[in-house]
Amino acid sequence: MTQAAPLLIRNTRILDLHAKQPSDQRFDVWVVGNQIERITAAQAQLGTDGVDCIDASKHCLIPGLVNAHTHSPASYAKGTVDIDNHPRFMWRNQAETIGRSAQEIYNCTLLTGIELIKSGVTAVIDHYPEQPFTFDDVGPVVQAYCDLGLRACIALRVYDEPYYDILPAADRTVPAHIDDVIRSGPLTPRSASEQLALCEALIQAYDGAGAGLIKIMVAPSAPLRCSDGFLSGLVGLSERYGIGIHTHLLETPVAVQISHERFGKSLVQRMQDLGMLGSHVSCAHAIYVDDDDIKRLSQTGTVVVHNPVSNLRIGDGVAPVARMHHAGVPIAFGTDGASTNDNLSILEEIKLGTILQRVQHLPLDQWLSAQEALTMAIEGGAKAIGREGELGRITRGQLADFFLVNLNSIYFTPLNDIVKQLVYADLGRSIEHVIVNGQVVMRAGELTTVNTASVLGTSREQRAQTMARNQSLYAFANEVENYLD
Ligand SMILES: [Zn+2]
Repeated sequence: MTQAAPLLIRNTRILDLHAKQPSDQRFDVWVVGNQIERITAAQAQLGTDGVDCIDASKHCLIPGLVNAHTHSPASYAKGTVDIDNHPRFMWRNQAETIGRSAQEIYNCTLLTGIELIKSGVTAVIDHYPEQPFTFDDVGPVVQAYCDLGLRACIALRVYDEPYYDILPAADRTVPAHIDDVIRSGPLTPRSASEQLALCEALIQAYDGAGAGLIKIMVAPSAPLRCSDGFLSGLVGLSERYGIGIHTHLLETPVAVQISHERFGKSLVQRMQDLGMLGSHVSCAHAIYVDDDDIKRLSQTGTVVVHNPVSNLRIGDGVAPVARMHHAGVPIAFGTDGASTNDNLSILEEIKLGTILQRVQHLPLDQWLSAQEALTMAIEGGAKAIGREGELGRITRGQLADFFLVNLNSIYFTPLNDIVKQLVYADLGRSIEHVIVNGQVVMRAGELTTVNTASVLGTSREQRAQTMARNQSLYAFANEVENYLD
């Protein structure tokens, strides 16, 4: 929904990531409908009758951040994981996220969206959900993002083969009751044809919903967990409906090993052979990519989404992001789900992602700068959601997705450099106003579209319900750990 009255961001600085020199010049930015209609030098005398005016004399206007990989179902599971590696976390996560009612799905998505908006995010890729799902499980997610006013790509997470990478080793003897859950529990795949039909029905129902705020993507959980035929079917849907593809990629060393054993080639090569690389494809993690993989990703313009906190949090590894960037691979940033993060701060990802590369013994001229990393999160993010050229700059005709930081806060005082202080010092603490698609969704730190206190209260109640309902799966997660290493 866009607002009726024009919006005026008055007397603001503007962050231009492509400017040769920072500027302290002031502007008036006019938004009509969902677009930036004009930008003029700030005028002292200005008629503002009938205009929604935000005084931005202490602020800087910054293009919206994109969180290009998260999982909304995990937002009730912050603080639940500590000494857990990837397979252990995955089984625990089933107990946290399965069997939810429509009300739980809706409220958990609202909780996710509130945190995203508060951290300056104006668009998200929600890799949803964790398990097999039904048509009715997606409506509440769409409704929540529409109610929040947040731009969202709902990336339908599907797989038609086992989660090979989190199972006990083949030579490991496991008790029958454990084996039963592995074979018929929450991660049991459904047939490829059933899921292709479901994805198509959901694309037809929801792609473009919310006056264009909502996009649907098809999203293999990981190529490793899908058959060739199923991946080809998803590529077909992507081509037929002009929608993006999103996936996890090479998050652990075991994924590399299984890929070569099962397919005789790297997963990236397999994706390319199946027509699953390109600028409409985004891959989260991409930690264990080799030089040949990087070349294929670069040549096809495939976007890699960097999730450094999650990658470290469950001990997966350090993605070679600086190397991929210098090889021409488009990079975006994501937080992953709250169960492996545990917050959804994209600026925290940018800070860690930038400085983490510096311990990889690269020459200084190949270190990532704060400016490069912030540009990845904004313009790389726009690419990841298929909005390149429409989002990411504060210029006339762009979609009005941006946020305002207060430069009088402690983190910008004294003011030396807006970009470095935003990335290294502020981490989003000084964000006061957020605008998405021309609508003010946060004003002076408060969400305008949903009742935050009510969502938090409902989250506490529903969290207790989940724990009571899924007791047997929590017990399973504790027991299966003994057979995973
Ligand atoms: Zn993920």
